Amino acid sequence: MYLKSIKAYGFKSFADKTEINFGQNINGIVGPNGSGKSNVVDAVRWVLGEQSIKSLRGDSSVDIIFSGSKSRKPLNSASITLVFDNSDRHLPINYTEVSIKRIMYRSGESEFFLNNENCRLKDITNLFADSGVDKESFNIISQGKIDEILSAKADDRRSVFESAAGVLKYKKRKIEALKKLDRTNTNIERINDIISELETNLEPLKRQSEDAQKYLELKEKLKNIEISLMSHDINNYSYEIKITEDKINEINDELTSLSINNSNYDIEIITKKEELIKVENKITENQHQLVELTKNIEKIDANVRILKEREKYTKKTNEVSSNIIKLKEDLLKLNNNIDNLNLIIDNNTKQLSKLEREKNILEKEIEELNKDYNKINNSIQKNNRDLTDLKYKIDYQERTINNNESLPPSIKNILNNPRLKNYHNVIAKLIEVDDKYATCISMSLGNASNYLVVNTPNDAKEMIKYLKDNKLGRATFYPLDTIKPRAIDEQTLNTIKNIKGFINVASNIVKYQKTYENIILNQLGNIIITEDIESANSISKTINNRYKIVTLDGQIVNVGGSITGGSITNKNNLINEKYELDNKKREYQELINSNKKLEQEITNISKTITSKEKELHEITNSIISINNIIKKTNTEKEDNNNNKDNIARELKDLEAINKDKSKGELEKLLNTYYATINNKNDIENSIELLNKEKQSLSETITELETNSKQSNSYINNKEKELNKLNLNINTINIKMDNLLMRLTEEYNMTYESAINNYKLEIDENIAREQVNNIKDNIKRIDNVNIGAIEEYKRVSERYNFLNSQKEDLHNAEQTLMEIINEMDTIMQEKFLKTFEEIRVEFKKVFKELFGGGEAELTLTEPDNILETGIDIKAVPSGKNLKSLSLLSGGEKTFTAISLLFAILNVRPVPFCLLDEVEAALDDANVESFGKYLEKYRDKTQFILITHKKKTMEFADILYGITMQESGVSKLVSVRLEDIKK
Ligand code: ATP
Repeated sequence: MYLKSIKAYGFKSFADKTEINFGQNINGIVGPNGSGKSNVVDAVRWVLGEQSIKSLRGDSSVDIIFSGSKSRKPLNSASITLVFDNSDRHLPINYTEVSIKRIMYRSGESEFFLNNENCRLKDITNLFADSGVDKESFNIISQGKIDEILSAKADDRRSVFESAAGVLKYKKRKIEALKKLDRTNTNIERINDIISELETNLEPLKRQSEDAQKYLELKEKLKNIEISLMSHDINNYSYEIKITEDKINEINDELTSLSINNSNYDIEIITKKEELIKVENKITENQHQLVELTKNIEKIDANVRILKEREKYTKKTNEVSSNIIKLKEDLLKLNNNIDNLNLIIDNNTKQLSKLEREKNILEKEIEELNKDYNKINNSIQKNNRDLTDLKYKIDYQERTINNNESLPPSIKNILNNPRLKNYHNVIAKLIEVDDKYATCISMSLGNASNYLVVNTPNDAKEMIKYLKDNKLGRATFYPLDTIKPRAIDEQTLNTIKNIKGFINVASNIVKYQKTYENIILNQLGNIIITEDIESANSISKTINNRYKIVTLDGQIVNVGGSITGGSITNKNNLINEKYELDNKKREYQELINSNKKLEQEITNISKTITSKEKELHEITNSIISINNIIKKTNTEKEDNNNNKDNIARELKDLEAINKDKSKGELEKLLNTYYATINNKNDIENSIELLNKEKQSLSETITELETNSKQSNSYINNKEKELNKLNLNINTINIKMDNLLMRLTEEYNMTYESAINNYKLEIDENIAREQVNNIKDNIKRIDNVNIGAIEEYKRVSERYNFLNSQKEDLHNAEQTLMEIINEMDTIMQEKFLKTFEEIRVEFKKVFKELFGGGEAELTLTEPDNILETGIDIKAVPSGKNLKSLSLLSGGEKTFTAISLLFAILNVRPVPFCLLDEVEAALDDANVESFGKYLEKYRDKTQFILITHKKKTMEFADILYGITMQESGVSKLVSVRLEDIKK
């Protein structure tokens, strides 16, 4: 391997692109002072990664970039490329030619390239690590450095030997290992600190976590048993309700039929009583007629007696005549009867058809009324269902509000903590708002509706501490003695008062206690309420957007004129919740009122139905009794007709016998007499019949009244039973509602899902006992911190992780110690071996170069090979020098060169760059130096920067560097012949 060429551009004085091609053996670079020769050495060391700007002879890293000259502008970057011939694969890379390049920009950025591929400096250092070429090694010797090897302290000299011994890479690895060890120890300490801190937290956290775990387990167990018990109870309750409802329906049905019966009784009693009155009236009438007839009979009887007295004298009495008269009397009587009966039949038939018409009408009316009844009853049932639903919602919402469910958790925790008392309430609960203003006040308050009003800032502090200690979030407090009222200035108020749409200042439309005046004015005293967004905009414009304006439907024109609007959700909005609750309560009341009205209607209808049914019943009874009368009268009429026929036949026979008998005055009178007698008899019969009818009617009425009384008392008992059952059903319903509510609230579960997923598998009494026991156990666990479970898991995982890390770090520490020991052993062996070899070679080379004399290398601390310095002893022949410093300049250089060659003998390097190392030598010594160089011709490439002509003679190739153009180095060719002449 050898350095084939150096390509420079922008590096120090090499402002132009310059390429120096070197030969494989001895190369010389010559040129006047300051022409840029040493810059070539700097360039090589720079590419190999030299970072010390001092050793590159600059003050800052960008000093290596061409800084301009009188005629040239500065350049922005510097680049150097070294091209190595690697045909012998000295560098461990599969290329015959290896180029390494470094570029630096004025920004200070530096880039490295290996065979034109971007790479890291480390890649280059690693590639050259074992090659004998590196920026530290003895084969690149800058100007004036050769003597430093002798003048340096014994300790500093060590690095040259280390480089030659090839231990630098081990040293580097050891340093890296030591750094890692240091970092590992720091990490172990840090981890130990964290572990011991975690240990102090872990134990209490463990306890808390166990408590929380136990709490959750108990809760879960409670949930399983309680839900199954609840669903079991609900199931039983609904069964009980069903049974009771069936019973209620049964009783209701019975009561309905009983009340129909009862009304029938009533109707019948009334009918019978009316009939009785009629009969009594008829009796009275008949009695009047009877009196009249009796008078008439007495009158006729007197006349008959007078006539009979007269006939005694005429002796015209005859038995036949008297029989005819008797038969005629009978016939007359029968005709009268038949006429009466016809009259009765006629009247009753007319009455019957009238009643049947009425009956039809009544039946239709009852049917219509029943339809109305069912319709209203359905409405009542629906209302009842709606009422139950609303009641549940109202209870739920009331509980939500009372339990502060909708408030932020922080506020809720304060309000629900009995130990914290020094607060009034949240602002939303301290005001009363009319329904129509609920939305605008809610929007006006915004989040402030949940601000908690306290007496003093100290009260607020106590609660903030509580929230902080328990990590319960944040809350805003309004101390009564601190908060100042805010208002709209009078002038503005006067201006806007008359603008269309202005309603009022928000604080004026809410009610509150005087104590809270400052708080309410602070929040609402400077907010204007308007009808709508148009009036809000116009008022805001008038007052130059100086006050916040809120419309009735909750749109906001903010101070400054921005507008907030859109739909409003009720989430966490206490005022709107209160407003909704009021609405529901109103709805509930309206339903109750509507039900009352409907119930009144239904009562009226049912009364009407009852009375119509009574009427119907009466009519039906009348129809029956009239039919009976007609039938009876017809039978009687038939009997009379038969009698009449018989008498007519008998009369015909007698009249034939008594043809001659003249009809006298007496006969006429007798006819009248008998007719009147007949009439009287009829009326007496009729009175007797009517009295019987009266008697029977009175008995029927008494019987009906007894029945009705009995039925009423039975109905009363049934109604009591019904009330009791209704009470039962209500109690069960309440119990069931309570369970359903708890299911929803405590377990967020519907009955359907509870019954489907939770079955009571143990005896219900045992289950109840278990629920009580678990609840007692839960109460006994104080201050449950559920978060502790996760926290403990997280902390213990971290604790375990850190412990395993600690173990890993201890292992790493052990490994690093082993590596360091290994490195030390290798370095000691290599260093000692190389030192020994160099020592032998140095003695030999010194003698050869000086032509005699003595030289020796010794270790300052042979027992401490890793740190020992190296002493050089050199005594040229014939001299007796005690110290190196007593050597002449040339002797010193020559001794150092001896050491250089000794090292090259022990550890040959591919190339060697020497900047005027021989400057101090006289020609004879330069000659020896040159000859010695030649010995290495085949092993090592030399690049010699020199002013010595003698040295130049040994070079195979010679380059000249000049600075023709002021400030820029140029490469010129030098003819060897000219030198050697
Ligand atoms: P000598 O024979 O005296 O040792 P030399 O040939 O080795 O001289 P160098 O030391 O290599 O000379 O070069 C020094 C020259 O490089 C100086 O003229 C200096 O101005 C120039 N130089 C150094 N850095 C820069 C830079 N960044 N830009 C321009 N020129 C620079």
